[in-house]
Amino acid sequence: MKNGVRRVNPSISPSIRLSIGPLLGPLLVPLIRSGRTLLSLLYPPHCALCLAPTRPGNHLCRNCLQSAVQIRAPACEVCSLPFYGLIDGPFTCPNCAQRRWHFKCAVACYLSRGVVRDLVHRFKYQRAHHLRHALGRWLGESLADPRLQNPLPDLLVPVPLHPAKLRKRQFNQSEILAHWVGQTHGFEVCNALKRTRHTPTQTHLSRRHRMENLRGAFALSKNPPVQNRHLILIDDVLTTGATLDACAHTLLRAGAASVRAATVARA
Ligand SMILES: [Zn+2]
Ligand SMILES: [Zn+2]
Repeated sequence: MKNGVRRVNPSISPSIRLSIGPLLGPLLVPLIRSGRTLLSLLYPPHCALCLAPTRPGNHLCRNCLQSAVQIRAPACEVCSLPFYGLIDGPFTCPNCAQRRWHFKCAVACYLSRGVVRDLVHRFKYQRAHHLRHALGRWLGESLADPRLQNPLPDLLVPVPLHPAKLRKRQFNQSEILAHWVGQTHGFEVCNALKRTRHTPTQTHLSRRHRMENLRGAFALSKNPPVQNRHLILIDDVLTTGATLDACAHTLLRAGAASVRAATVARA
């Protein structure tokens, strides 16, 4: 148990564990394992980005992993924005010092540059679903941050997509990542939110206009168990924080005890 993160064995899904029963289990598990060994002989594991050979269980080679830009201290306690200079002790960026977010903090361990941005992009827009493992590991690092461990979260809540966007993309990247980290680290996941208003793409809008654009864009899904619970919003990339703020606002109004956020990366 690292930093209080509960872990479950992710190699066998709960439904398989339940259905194989106590007698068949000991027979089936070695069979599944030997099947995997055979598969790895036929298809040796390789890096999801550059196709270099990797060790089994590693989805990226050492070179690609090392080229991911980590966010190191000093970074904003609230929004994880890195500070490029010498500073001692906790630091809050001017943007967070000026305004009050509805989330307590938003944690990301990597900058959305280079390999990280490339992976998120391929996962989201090119339907490269196998990349969820590599992205899920980075998201898991955010979840292990002390800011998200004390108190331990009761529920992970993925940022929802509008149904029209979901139909077009066919999956919600935040939901897939939330389930990946939920299963790996032993946290419950709940689709507590829905997106009620389709907002036009926000990239060209100023920070203030993004906030206004998102007002009333989220609502609660049917009776989610969020009251008096410590929630963590899950998203792929934190850009301005406007989406996370609007989601956190909706959850706090529904009686959540606290809302924090974890993302794979930060713009
Ligand atoms: Zn590589
Ligand atoms: Zn900040």
